[in-house]
Amino acid sequence: MTAADLLIRDADLVVTMDEALGDLPGGWVAVTGGLITGLGTAADPPPPALKAVDAGGCLVTPGLVNSHQHLYQNLTRSGDRPDLDGSLEAWFWHYFGMWSQLDEEAVRLSTAVGMAELAWSGCTTTVDHLYLHPRPGLLDAQIDEAARLGMRFTAVRGTMTMGEQNGGICPDHLAEDEDAYLADCERLFARHHDPAPSAMVRVAFGPTNLLSCTPSTMTRTAELADRLAVRLHTHVADDPEEHAFVTARYERRPLEVLDSLGWLTERTWCAHVVYPSTAEMALLAERGVGVSHCPSSTVIGGGLPGGPTPVREMLDAGIAVGIGCDGATAADHQSLWMETKTAMLLARLRGGTADAMPAREALWMATRGGARAIGREGEVGVLRHAACGDLAVWRMDTLPYAGALADPVTALFNCGPTWAWHTVVGGRFLVEDGEPRITGLDETLRRHRETERRIQGVTAPSL
Ligand SMILES: [Zn+2]
Repeated sequence: MTAADLLIRDADLVVTMDEALGDLPGGWVAVTGGLITGLGTAADPPPPALKAVDAGGCLVTPGLVNSHQHLYQNLTRSGDRPDLDGSLEAWFWHYFGMWSQLDEEAVRLSTAVGMAELAWSGCTTTVDHLYLHPRPGLLDAQIDEAARLGMRFTAVRGTMTMGEQNGGICPDHLAEDEDAYLADCERLFARHHDPAPSAMVRVAFGPTNLLSCTPSTMTRTAELADRLAVRLHTHVADDPEEHAFVTARYERRPLEVLDSLGWLTERTWCAHVVYPSTAEMALLAERGVGVSHCPSSTVIGGGLPGGPTPVREMLDAGIAVGIGCDGATAADHQSLWMETKTAMLLARLRGGTADAMPAREALWMATRGGARAIGREGEVGVLRHAACGDLAVWRMDTLPYAGALADPVTALFNCGPTWAWHTVVGGRFLVEDGEPRITGLDETLRRHRETERRIQGVTAPSL
């Protein structure tokens, strides 16, 4: 029998999230050449392996999939600004000056810090939506950094093209030329995009929203994505101010405008969608549009028209709903575990019952739902033969889980807080024995702090 590269063995439970395989008590997972090459229960003999890890006392799940993020925002983390009166527009303008200083060093550091924190929370695949390009080459630097860290990555080439002088919510100096943006999309696609099922890097296109992008940018991006067969991403229906702006300018609701611009197709996944109508949810399901649910940024920002996002209703309508941390200026933490727990709690608050969002369904959103939303169904977010060898190992014999033997999946999110004990991407450890295995993390944090002060204009150490 050929030896596997890695064997995670003797777990209390392996939750595959695969309908046919189900849960594997006393289970094991083998990874070879970056892919899963075997799974079994305690009754099935595992293969020999070059590296075998005892997962006794642990729950094993697919690695979590982060379907929406702006990593650069961890340079201006914790953006509570009571003086801005809850205004999204005022919030943007407050930060645009800081964010316009983004350079390659800042992108590399924020990517390293964000991806390390995400990996620590059990995340193995992340999206990043970089829509600020004050200097060229920032997405190239970010893709290079993701490869160095070993995180599976969907890099969204975002943009803003509707500056203030054209009525948009974007400083004119940050508004990009539409042709130059589209040319850069093509360049990035040619240089970095890998369509293979085991790809470490995919490229997607993402005009940031209807507040700061022209209709022409939206339409031409959708046409380009169609021609190149890549995914489309944007923000929509995330704030009452966006709703007011779009309905005043276009005399239609935001999702209707996106539809008119050719965006409601199976290529697209949208961040937020906080207040869809019943008809809009049916339309999103029918068109195969995915949703990235980012509960913390919605709650922290106070943008809750009609109550928490109708996640239960969206799932029941058949929409692929994933979980996203969103940028750390709005959502502060970068733990996909915590974001998943928050999504579960808010859906229960809205539904009025625990059945409104069982922990296992929350895990489905953080794995299968996210994978489907970003177009990687069957490749990530599931443990099955030939899927990517991406998994999270959670210690259940620790203090937060003492006494929670009844159902480890329910315990994973009902209890806590926690961090992943191991996080594995393609058979490689990003977190091992509870510690991020990121080369030079201490130095990265020191330089991140220096850059954070520079960007925020803080001259003395903040305490
Ligand atoms: Zn966002």
